[in-house]
Amino acid sequence: MIKELLLEQKYDPNLEYDVIVVGTGPGGGTVAREMALKGRKVLMLERGAEQHWIQQNTLGWALMMNNLGMNFSKEMTAVAIPNVYGGASNLTCGVAGPPPVKLFAEVGITFNGEIEEAKKDIWADELPDVLVGKDNLRMLEAAQECGFNWTKMPKMIDAGKCIPGCSDCMLGCARRAKWTSRVFCDEALRNNADIMLYTKVTDVIVENGKVIGVRGTRLGREIKAYAKVVVLATGVSNVGILRKAGIQEAGRQFAIDALVFVGGVAPGTSSIRSNPMAVGTLEDYDNGFIMTETGPNWASFALELAMDKPRNWWHFKDNMKMSWIMIKIQDEMGGEIYPEKRFFGFSKPISKRDRQRLDMGTEKAKKILRRMGANESSIYVCPPIGAHPCGTCPVGTVLDSNLETRIKNLYCCDASVVHRSMGLPVVWTAVTLGKRLSKHLNATTFKGAK
Ligand SMILES: Cc1cc2nc3c(=O)[nH]c(=O)nc-3n(C[C@H](O)[C@H](O)[C@H](O)COP(=O)(O)OP(=O)(O)OC[C@H]3O[C@@H](n4cnc5c(N)ncnc54)[C@H](O)[C@@H]3O)c2cc1C
Repeated sequence: MIKELLLEQKYDPNLEYDVIVVGTGPGGGTVAREMALKGRKVLMLERGAEQHWIQQNTLGWALMMNNLGMNFSKEMTAVAIPNVYGGASNLTCGVAGPPPVKLFAEVGITFNGEIEEAKKDIWADELPDVLVGKDNLRMLEAAQECGFNWTKMPKMIDAGKCIPGCSDCMLGCARRAKWTSRVFCDEALRNNADIMLYTKVTDVIVENGKVIGVRGTRLGREIKAYAKVVVLATGVSNVGILRKAGIQEAGRQFAIDALVFVGGVAPGTSSIRSNPMAVGTLEDYDNGFIMTETGPNWASFALELAMDKPRNWWHFKDNMKMSWIMIKIQDEMGGEIYPEKRFFGFSKPISKRDRQRLDMGTEKAKKILRRMGANESSIYVCPPIGAHPCGTCPVGTVLDSNLETRIKNLYCCDASVVHRSMGLPVVWTAVTLGKRLSKHLNATTFKGAK
């Protein structure tokens, strides 16, 4: 366990590490763990803190985010960008979405057992009814009565540690019932990996077309670290680092897996007590969207309403009573990242096709809420927001199918590598990619190494 307040962190500036992993989200955490388990000397560099001392409340949530969660596009679409040990895996609803095999096949990426290995390692399984909760089960029943193929969704949750009636997954799970990338990073640390928190990597050090290390700042001081291989797993921040290294194509377009929450007041049920995303459907995935139970907490709801027309603000009084359904789409690639800007650091318009997909899902959600008994006037559709940025360093443009850039031994491994929107929960895919990359490194750069 990291003793963050004492800043007791291990790092040897004179050592050439085997692998430096930048960012400790699911993509980076997996590479760190897999390589450490194979005996490689790994250094993890993470911009955020461990922050175990404040979780499961709205302030803790804001502190885990870049700019306290205030990350808006030029068009005022909000997107969550993490800044904490374990990355956005701390903020997840804990639902496990299967990696989109067909999407990866389009760019020559196939898997060899990594999907199943990842599923086991992230604890993906169905929850018992008592943890799914009666409110979710009522929604499931109503959806099925409408003729929709809703089911329980697999969750990355240790049922033995979870408690009924808790809906706090997205605020960070202080009882550690939810799988986060910390599970892997902690395991890497137990296997001789080193770590530096509060460390923002700004550049890669390149010699003769080959990466040899990274440069960054830690608590106001410059640090440098050296390694045979560097894996960037910082999500959107990869863009700034790659552009400085001359890879200008990064971040020229991307996706945000845009979503809307549709809520209504149905007698006797409320999402306030519901294990988030524990029920839903992927039946419309080929139509470009998925649906699950889940909604904003009071603070996000207030923010959504603040971005909407004042005449809708009265819905806030129903905050505790709303039953929510989320529509998440595969949005069109577009927009641009502006890495030099701290605020409004990207542009991502919602296209006409995105709007159509959101509307298709919204109509279905309204049907379910009405079936649950929601009064028409109580039904409210939040403005679109982005779930998570992805596709900023896509395979085919920035990376080859082994996730390597044109700078030798410099890789990316996180949600940035997909070439179009997945429109699915990302963690299972990021872990699968991390395992695939680790196997590649062990079979190439570290082949035969002791
Ligand atoms: C509210 C919410 C709910 C979600 N729910 C689910 C869910 O239920 N299931 C699911 O599968 N997915 C879910 N997701 C998506 C999922 O959490 C992310 O897509 C996933 O964590 C992305 O993993 P990643 O490896 O790309 O890295 P990230 O998790 O984005 O982590 C990147 C890491 O890099 C660090 N970093 C950034 N810049 C630097 C730098 N310059 N130097 C050093 N470190 C840096 C960050 O602090 C962070 O730790 C959710 C996301 C959000 C926001």
